[in-house]
Amino acid sequence: MRVFDNLFFVGNRQVSAWLLGTDNGYFLIDAMNSDRQSKSIISAGILTLGLNPEKIKYIVITHGHGDHYGGQNYIATTYGARVAMSEADWQLLEDPAQRIENPNWGPRPLRDIVVKDGEVLQIPGTDIRILETPGHTPGTISLIFKVDDKGVRHTAALWGGTGFNFGPDDVKLRQYAGSAARMGEIAAKQGVDVFLSNHPNRDSSIEKMARLNSRGLNDPHPFVMGPSALKAFSVLEQCALAQAARVESDTQ
Ligand SMILES: [Zn+2]
Repeated sequence: MRVFDNLFFVGNRQVSAWLLGTDNGYFLIDAMNSDRQSKSIISAGILTLGLNPEKIKYIVITHGHGDHYGGQNYIATTYGARVAMSEADWQLLEDPAQRIENPNWGPRPLRDIVVKDGEVLQIPGTDIRILETPGHTPGTISLIFKVDDKGVRHTAALWGGTGFNFGPDDVKLRQYAGSAARMGEIAAKQGVDVFLSNHPNRDSSIEKMARLNSRGLNDPHPFVMGPSALKAFSVLEQCALAQAARVESDTQ
């Protein structure tokens, strides 16, 4: 579905894939679980929207878990897209002792573009600011970019890794909390008024798309939250700190 003039949801109910850009070129943010999904859901969805998947220039992988990179191979090889990820998560995928294996996931990408904190990836007409937000994985990245609603500009922040699936590790939880706090500060400075995730159940994107579908001419855009978009980062921070405190009290 077209969510903003320049942002399209091309995932499913379990995991998001976002296409950002214009006819000049697109960023694909995450690639779902497998080449089967990236072909039948991402690529087919892009074609259904009347867009050209050959214009995908970069696949930006938010973190090194296969539900986000598993379909990259089909997109990269079919359309010549480059794969961008943080150094820490390239290393994660290169380390057999660290990376998670799952038969449902497509092949891991081989080292391509390394993106760094503060870097801005550019395609003519579209910029993505990269922020390193370690916690969910050592090299999770979160993204800030502009979206337009009928020509009115908004600023979106996409949080790259929700979930404490690394277990009761207070050091990682505190790192996660620090990343969320820092991201919240940067998002406030950048005027973020749209909060997005890479799983639809984390940003209510399925419900919001349903509302968008039946939006009246003068209705607000359901994804535009105003300053309350920033609350997500304090919730992420506080949840991580609460879990860290629980782990620490359990181990005392
Ligand atoms: Zn993950």
